[in-house]
Amino acid sequence: MLKISGEALGGGADSADERYDRETILYLVDQIQSLVSNGHEIALTLGGGNLFRGTTFVKELGIKRTTADYVGILGTMQNSLVVRDFLELSGLKTIMSVPFFIPQISESYIPTRLRKKLGGGWTIIFGAGIGVPYFTSDTATIQRALEIEADCIYMIKNGIDGIYDKDPNKEKGAKKYRSITATEILEKKLAFADLSAIEMLRDNNLRAKVMSITDLKHGDDLNTGTEVLPK
Ligand code: UDP
Repeated sequence: MLKISGEALGGGADSADERYDRETILYLVDQIQSLVSNGHEIALTLGGGNLFRGTTFVKELGIKRTTADYVGILGTMQNSLVVRDFLELSGLKTIMSVPFFIPQISESYIPTRLRKKLGGGWTIIFGAGIGVPYFTSDTATIQRALEIEADCIYMIKNGIDGIYDKDPNKEKGAKKYRSITATEILEKKLAFADLSAIEMLRDNNLRAKVMSITDLKHGDDLNTGTEVLPK
């Protein structure tokens, strides 16, 4: 199970389009192709932070949180459609699944059916997060991973290659953890994913790895990134 944050799809402030950077997405697709050709079954969740983040727009526009979150959910679906096209154009059979009924562009969320598709060589994109406000795609990643019985969870953030004791983009001397428990992350309030996602890792005895996009194709073979242990 791979979680790709929305901002990891963008090229950052230097790019012509901060929302999507073609080279970055092609690179991501190349990494996924390597994994698939090595026999891995791949499911993805995509965030929407490159387009819209509910809480930000509540502050900036003064709209209701629930409305802002639904717009964020639509953002994750937009990203899912874009990435699906890139994957399909590269030759990977891909299904986008959302917990809504929109047959023109996606399949419904029917976990047992999708599990069989994964075994049949399809790559699955879970769009729309959990599909309701007050959640994020981090929590959806853990929930979907549990339901499809994923062996490992890799989380790709924007421009960061692991979990640090402080923000490495803002503070000098930030130290990267090689490994950390979900309990420690909660105690130290390290903001790498939402609390509900970290609690789900802890409570369900799951492991995850936070890594950079460039390390993705190596999975656990490279001793990079940060391993998150449950307890
Ligand atoms: N969102 C939501 N419920 C979900 C998933 C996403 O309400 O199950 C909304 C929420 O407003 C969030 C936005 O969609 O801020 C973008 O998703 P997310 O924050 O997970 O994106 P990322 O930061 O990973 O790019």
